[in-house]
Amino acid sequence: IKPEVQTNNEVKKPLLDHPTIHIDVKRDPKIQVARLKLPILGEEQRIMELVNENEFLIVAGETGSGKTTQIPQFLYEAGYAERKMIAVTEPRRVATVAMSARVAYELGLTSKEVSYLMRFEGNVTKDTKIKFMTDGVLLKEIQTDFLLSKYSVVIIDEAHERSVYTDILLGLLSRIVPIRRKRGNPLRLIIMSATLRVEDFTENKRLFKEAPPLIKIDSRQFPVTIHFNKHTYSDYLKEAYKKTVKIHTRLPEGGILIFVTGQQEVRYLVRKLKASFPYRKDVDYTKLITRKAVNENDAALDSEPEDIDSDDDEVEKEMKRARKARRKAKLKAKALPKINLDDYDMPEDDGQADLVGSDDDSEGHLSDSDVEDDTLTPAIKSCRQPLWVLPLYSMLSSSKQARVFEPPPTGARLCVVSTDVAETSLTIPSIKYVVDTGKKKMRVYDHVTGASAWRVVWVSQAGAAQRAGRAGRTGAGHAYRLYSAPVFANDLPAHHAPDLCRRPADDIVLLMKCMSIDKVVNFPFPTAPDRMQLRLAEKRLQVLGILETPENKEGRRKDDEEVLKVTPLGKAVSAFPLLPRYGKMLALSHQQNLLPYTIALVSALTVPEVMSGKAECWPAAGQTLLLGDPGVLLRAVGAAEYAHLKGEEELFCAKHGLREKAIKEIRKLRKQLTTEINLSVPGVDVKIDPEMKPPDENQARLLRQLVLSGLGDQVGRKIGLDEVKEGEDKRKYKYAYHCGELEEPVHLHSESILRKAIPEWVVYQELYETGAEERRKMVMRNVTAIEPEWLPVFVPQLCNLGEPLTDTEPRYDEKSGRVKCSFKGTFGKACWELPIVEI
Ligand code: ADP
Ligand code: MG
Repeated sequence: IKPEVQTNNEVKKPLLDHPTIHIDVKRDPKIQVARLKLPILGEEQRIMELVNENEFLIVAGETGSGKTTQIPQFLYEAGYAERKMIAVTEPRRVATVAMSARVAYELGLTSKEVSYLMRFEGNVTKDTKIKFMTDGVLLKEIQTDFLLSKYSVVIIDEAHERSVYTDILLGLLSRIVPIRRKRGNPLRLIIMSATLRVEDFTENKRLFKEAPPLIKIDSRQFPVTIHFNKHTYSDYLKEAYKKTVKIHTRLPEGGILIFVTGQQEVRYLVRKLKASFPYRKDVDYTKLITRKAVNENDAALDSEPEDIDSDDDEVEKEMKRARKARRKAKLKAKALPKINLDDYDMPEDDGQADLVGSDDDSEGHLSDSDVEDDTLTPAIKSCRQPLWVLPLYSMLSSSKQARVFEPPPTGARLCVVSTDVAETSLTIPSIKYVVDTGKKKMRVYDHVTGASAWRVVWVSQAGAAQRAGRAGRTGAGHAYRLYSAPVFANDLPAHHAPDLCRRPADDIVLLMKCMSIDKVVNFPFPTAPDRMQLRLAEKRLQVLGILETPENKEGRRKDDEEVLKVTPLGKAVSAFPLLPRYGKMLALSHQQNLLPYTIALVSALTVPEVMSGKAECWPAAGQTLLLGDPGVLLRAVGAAEYAHLKGEEELFCAKHGLREKAIKEIRKLRKQLTTEINLSVPGVDVKIDPEMKPPDENQARLLRQLVLSGLGDQVGRKIGLDEVKEGEDKRKYKYAYHCGELEEPVHLHSESILRKAIPEWVVYQELYETGAEERRKMVMRNVTAIEPEWLPVFVPQLCNLGEPLTDTEPRYDEKSGRVKCSFKGTFGKACWELPIVEI
């Protein structure tokens, strides 16, 4: 009989089964020494007791305390990987690869046993014991094996990042775990998080009826002094460069970690700093250090002390100490060795990185002249100590990432320029100074297109604290914030809302329905998204035929009691990483053999603001004209791609009013969608045709129907001539939505190519408001002409056809093998009359 344990003064339920074997691990003694320094090692016994006795456990610990690398090892040694696997999920691809490699190395195992799996990539074998994966991959596995029967433990790492998939996983696992227990086959869930907002999990009644045990890993965090800038300059890169130069030339030894927002900024700053303080292989820097000290001393004394926060006591004291040391050194200073410039060694360039991912570039090219500052030049010239500058961002290859863990060459100072991956995912040893631009790139979702764009925004106050904390891992440190204290207090949000609450919910609703989670509003999200948003998403999916519409509404209770299932079309749509309406266009076009066009079109439609006017560059006629603005987009994309091939993209975009970055994004998306479709649809092998010809008449007509199939809930009809007063704009439309028709007329976008045609019926991608006060009006953007006869076929959910017409005979249609009848119906709740259709 197992003893009872007492936690939180209440008697706990009987213990769970747990493995009782112990796996011997032969670690390299060097690794063992390093491990023993990690605060989490002292907690191994307590953690394992809690794991053995509980199904849920939350481990919160400062970044670098050893959660990701050590806890999987504890579990492995305790036998949890003997019969089933240990799963570890990461929200970032970079951590998935890096951490599986690290754990394999520390355990003395290979990638056969400690493996990783993410979309398009992985090294899992039948012998895998510990499996690192991206959170999206585990979610996919739940779709085929709801009880996760292959695993004995699931670790959700970096839960504080609150990625969409992590949030959904937590909700699901909070239900899966009790089921596994009932079946006598317990599954453990360990939630690992930085110390931010742990109460989101511990005090979350939706997730856990009773709070799971929480272990806080005490990390040896040394004091970090925070220095705010007096002013907040918008050119934060320039400020970051200046601050780094000052730290390097004036402050004592210790690594510098700089936070910027994206890969391109990282690479730019790395280049710039390397050029200012180059490292040369042939120089013996042990001798240089003493000499450097002399120069450093001079610089510190000569210059205005304003910038490195001279008013701060800590730094001042430290600088005094350093100056004293340097003065001593000066007496012993030796002559400089001669430098052979031919043997000039700069650490190699960081190569071409993959563009897909969270550290994506969204700034244009930066030129070196952006950050010239003459006032720094003397300090740079007199400083002989090299900076060992390393980049760090998600898409950097793992071998290059690993360099930040190695000590810099003798005499050089470590300087890492990083995106927010160094905030909590990866820990760099021996950082003493943090330079925080206060900015990060955040995914901002366009509620219309569902497209996500990376925008530079302020980090949260919690994020800023995390960044500062990186300076106190090995000793007391300093964090330089390149913004003022009032900006910190007033402009930085305390926290950012979790991803899941900031994006349109259509694809989340579909995803969950595909997993048979029918009542999405009741799902235990760690933070619940707006109920109204979820309902609207359901409605839209119904209209699009992606969710079922119950045939017979009578006899059922109100809408909110309805359980809407996914249709077969919905299943196909869910395979695409797009908002469902665009996925639907793709799914249907497969039948029409139009895929290359649809892929390009959907890509163009999901990237916001591709063109700024200049529709006159794209003359069109006939069906191509009726395809409307999406047709223009399609042609522009084709032409831009051709220009790209010839290396004239930049010029071409400028000339034709295209946003170059949008064109690049579209290219990326086209590639991604093409790969995905080729991998997932058997027998399909789509090629990207760079010289995409404009669609012919028939293709353009089919494309119009596809556009309608995706935008069928956004139909506009021209206002009758009798409704327009003399002298008024005739290009007015009414629009229908699922609750009826709105009084207010809507207008064609001023750049719409359809102003040449003013078709009777249209669909639009987006409705928005322009103008101030009295001149305010509603405008449709990206408009396509449709034929009303198509509506009963492509948007049947909104058509009311009634009984077949009695004055026409049903007809046998040989082509389809079906009997066709004629109908005369109406569209939408506003009952717009439709022409007679044969169905
Ligand atoms: P946490 O998950 O709590 O943030 P980690 O387990 O990631 O902590 O890191 C624990 C320690 O292991 C850190 O000090 C980190 O620097 C070190 N570490 C992690 N990966 C590597 C690596 N590839 N090489 C050397 N040290 C590493
Ligand atoms: Mg970690």
